[in-house]
Amino acid sequence: MERGILVTGGAHGIGKQTCIDFLEAGDKVCFIDFNKDLGEEFSKKYENLYFYHGNVSKSDNLKGFVEFAKEKLGRIDVLVNNACKGNKGILSDLDYDGFDYVLSVGLKAPYELSRLCKEELIKNKGRIINIASSRAFQSEPDSEAYASTKGGIVALTHALAMSLGPDVLVNCIAPGWIDVDESESFSKEDIAALPAGKVGTPKDISSMILFLCKHDFITGETFVIDGGMSKRMIYHNDWNWKYSIDDK
Ligand code: NAD
Repeated sequence: MERGILVTGGAHGIGKQTCIDFLEAGDKVCFIDFNKDLGEEFSKKYENLYFYHGNVSKSDNLKGFVEFAKEKLGRIDVLVNNACKGNKGILSDLDYDGFDYVLSVGLKAPYELSRLCKEELIKNKGRIINIASSRAFQSEPDSEAYASTKGGIVALTHALAMSLGPDVLVNCIAPGWIDVDESESFSKEDIAALPAGKVGTPKDISSMILFLCKHDFITGETFVIDGGMSKRMIYHNDWNWKYSIDDK
């Protein structure tokens, strides 16, 4: 059976690879992206791939996307809330509207799309997969908007899992460093800092998304996929890491 898959931010990076994986699994995919050129170019490559040009921070664009998807796909089985960007905070004096924009893209849109797709997802015993970040759990300075948004989507995940289960299973993936530009220009030190011995690829995340869509005993959960980066215990002078008080 062809499932109907919705992906946000599907024109590039993790979202794009997710679209490809579902298409290769025999599904029909509809994605929203605000990058018109990339979206159009990508959608021309696959018969069962449909592009809706829009910004997920706008509620009318979200409504338009879901209506478009219902028309093109005929059904909705999986919603992947992937689109997000923005990494500034209090040191850059990010203001109320700037903070609100990141929340709108990365947290309000996933809620609103879940609401708009609720009946279809319940009817089809579907799945919601949210994309957070390891930054939901650890931070650099000046990253309040992104960190809060990603922390929020982890909580949204378990809240939705309680509200929509057992019909809809809801899970979240928190990626670490993923090379979305296929740059492969990492230093030996970059790679050595990652316990898995490599920087992640979009496929490392999309394969987990597809796995979670097959599994039926996992819900409300967040999976950190960061090559072990956040698991390393570091004290000053360990592993050649030096804490510099002046750099703080
Ligand atoms: P990316 O920049 O490669 O692609 C994101 C896509 O989303 C782009 O096509 C962009 O045009 C689109 N987009 C962004 N804002 C949008 C909006 N408001 N409306 C519509 N489309 C929008 O990003 P990526 O690295 O693949 O990130 C995907 C997800 O993974 C994000 O939620 C991001 O926070 C998360 N993530 C990425 C990394 C990483 O290292 N790449 C690490 C942790 C988490």
